Amino acid sequence: MSNKKNTHTIPDNLSETSGERPEQVVIVRVALSVPLRKIFDYTVPTTMGLPRPGCRVRVGFGSRTLTGLVVEASNSSLLDIKKLKAVKEVLDNEPLLDSKFIQFLCWVADYYIHPLGEVVFAALPKLLREGKPAKLPDNPYWAITALGEQSLKQGPGRAVVQYRLLKMLSEAEKPLASGQFKTVSNSWKKALEAIAGKGLVERIEPPAAEQASSQSALSATPDQQLVINSITDSLDGFKCFLLHGITGSGKTEVYLRCIADVLMNNQQALVLVPEISLTPQLVNRFRQRFDAVIDVLHSGMNDTQRMQAWERARRGDSAILIGTRSAVFVPLARPGIIILDEEHDSSFKQQDGFRYHARDVAIKRASMQGIPVVMGSATPSLESWHNAKQGRFELLTLEQRATAGGLPDIHLLDVEKQPLEGGISIPLREGVRQCLKQGEQSLLFINRRGFAPAVCCTSCNALAQCTRCDARMTWHRKEGRLLCHHCGKSSRWPEHCPDCGGSEMVTLGQGTENIHQTIQKMVPEASIERIDRDTTRRKGELEQRLQRAHSGEADVLVGTQMLSKGHDFPNLSLVGILDSDQLLFSSDFRASERLFQLITQVAGRAGRADKRGMVLLQTRFPDSPWLQTIAQHDYKAFAEMALAERKSADYPPYTHIALLRAEAIEQQQALKFLAGMHRKAKSLIASSTAMQSVNLSEPVPSVMEKRAGRYRAQLLVQAVNRKPLHEFLYQWRGVIESDRSARRVRWSLDVDPVDLY
Ligand code: ADP
Ligand code: ZN
Repeated sequence: MSNKKNTHTIPDNLSETSGERPEQVVIVRVALSVPLRKIFDYTVPTTMGLPRPGCRVRVGFGSRTLTGLVVEASNSSLLDIKKLKAVKEVLDNEPLLDSKFIQFLCWVADYYIHPLGEVVFAALPKLLREGKPAKLPDNPYWAITALGEQSLKQGPGRAVVQYRLLKMLSEAEKPLASGQFKTVSNSWKKALEAIAGKGLVERIEPPAAEQASSQSALSATPDQQLVINSITDSLDGFKCFLLHGITGSGKTEVYLRCIADVLMNNQQALVLVPEISLTPQLVNRFRQRFDAVIDVLHSGMNDTQRMQAWERARRGDSAILIGTRSAVFVPLARPGIIILDEEHDSSFKQQDGFRYHARDVAIKRASMQGIPVVMGSATPSLESWHNAKQGRFELLTLEQRATAGGLPDIHLLDVEKQPLEGGISIPLREGVRQCLKQGEQSLLFINRRGFAPAVCCTSCNALAQCTRCDARMTWHRKEGRLLCHHCGKSSRWPEHCPDCGGSEMVTLGQGTENIHQTIQKMVPEASIERIDRDTTRRKGELEQRLQRAHSGEADVLVGTQMLSKGHDFPNLSLVGILDSDQLLFSSDFRASERLFQLITQVAGRAGRADKRGMVLLQTRFPDSPWLQTIAQHDYKAFAEMALAERKSADYPPYTHIALLRAEAIEQQQALKFLAGMHRKAKSLIASSTAMQSVNLSEPVPSVMEKRAGRYRAQLLVQAVNRKPLHEFLYQWRGVIESDRSARRVRWSLDVDPVDLY
């Protein structure tokens, strides 16, 4: 096995090895899906074809046989060649990934200080990881021959199915894929074989991917046109665009038009979105617009479907690939553009295992492939906004709604001064009633599912706590259970207070279940649709509920964040935001950004067609400057304030950060481990002038220290410049990996974390 340490970068001249077998011994360096930051050397027996970089091989690893990907071929090894194991089997004749793509993955592994093998295998669909062949269903094309045309003239005779196949091909006037013959008869296969045997039809190569055509009924607004021109003028090279467009300003329309140009150039588009299941509308818009092969990667697909979508993209058989964050690793034969919709969305960050950020990875990918990347949002992340202000991204702006509605008015309702009935103020109740009278929809947003977020003892005020987490239990009335939303633990309604033994426990506060019930009492004639994780667990349920919401069958929608994104409810004119105050006082440094994003997104659901919408935001802090900027739809003022706050606290984008997290069963274990790593980090930094600028914080318990029965702690590392930070992290991870104490905890290193708890 190679000692070749963590520099993954591959020299260019090695990446294209010719098929000829040279005389001397051949070594391949193989990435394996193991948690070690190494690649492994194997010899290739002379009886075997030479596996080129990007091909998969089967190799022995310890007592196991693993599938690996060749990243490099060489004539030498730092190890004793006689001791190297030989490759057992070469799985691919042609590379699955080209050398440029492998270099891109190497960059990603280096950047996130993560084992290359795990990065490479995250880029492959499961069936390919398991060593299955990369194949697409055989769907050959057939054309009618001159002989076939002649035979057609003689009429059907006894072989009716054969005749109908010939007729279909003749009438089509172009080759047809065999899949299309199913409509003729169940016995089409036999008939096809027969006429092929007689030379009446011939099998031909599939025609090149169908020329994409697109049609649009809308003509772009002048603002949209400017934005479209800027992007389409730069399709031939790398460039980052930040498209800041208010909700409903026609960003999606901009993407569609830019993609149309990309397809005309015979290139492919990669579209990354936060959550596909929540936005079936978006995919439909693509399908309606383009007469081209569009693949969507989503969690509802089985392994074969995923592999096929991946393979079609890689071969260039599809024109557009729409997917969530992991799609950023799907190779494209002819990459033309990458689009990230809702670029601020935190779901682009993988939060466990290989912790990458799809936005940052997309930017690097675009730069290596020489194509533009377009990041769109109504509420850009402060990182991207800062990059645009610094001139690293080109800022494009859409300030008007594409339709007549205009942005909704946001009213801040001081709930200290209003009586609340089950969490709902009188103006909000009256608003919902008014909407119903006018035949319009309203939406009540509360970011808590369940009936009540707390259960409390009337004698001592103790709250029902999860025994495995530092968290309160949530009452779910329909299930009749208390549930912990952090670890999933469930228990019965407590007959007695666990603290004082008191016999009266009551619920406190509201969740969606409760709001549903309250609003139903207030407007009994309304049909109400509740949309949250609990009501959409079963397959197809979300689609059904959204369908009722879109069709207008539902008068009032009650829901969580699930309802905030991407939905276009044309008849929705009132949005009530019930409780977002907890975000005002969160210890998370991104809380104000999240608040702005969340409220803007939810508010953006109102008045999307030709009606002006209204938003009623219930708060105890109507004077909060954050809420003021939100009410004025003033993203720029918000960003300025938030950036100033970040700057004074030395947070990104003014510094770069990384977090070492640890968790353990025993309370002090994680902190003890981090204290040890803190000491080692200090001496590392002291030993090198290059790392002097790296700052270490003291290890601290996480905000929710106990979770799912484990105690958690963390250590923050900051630096103004990336280079010293990475130099440090790189060496530090080596130290951590080889430290015995690391085996007694679960630890992870998160580069550019989005959450600091
Ligand atoms: P965003 O992605 O910014 O939220 P969309 O692209 O979804 O905005 O557009 C919002 C609404 O405006 C959609 O119903 C869309 O069909 C419509 N729309 C977009 N562009 C135009 C246009 N140029 N002319 C008319 N309607 C448009
Ligand atoms: Zn719990």
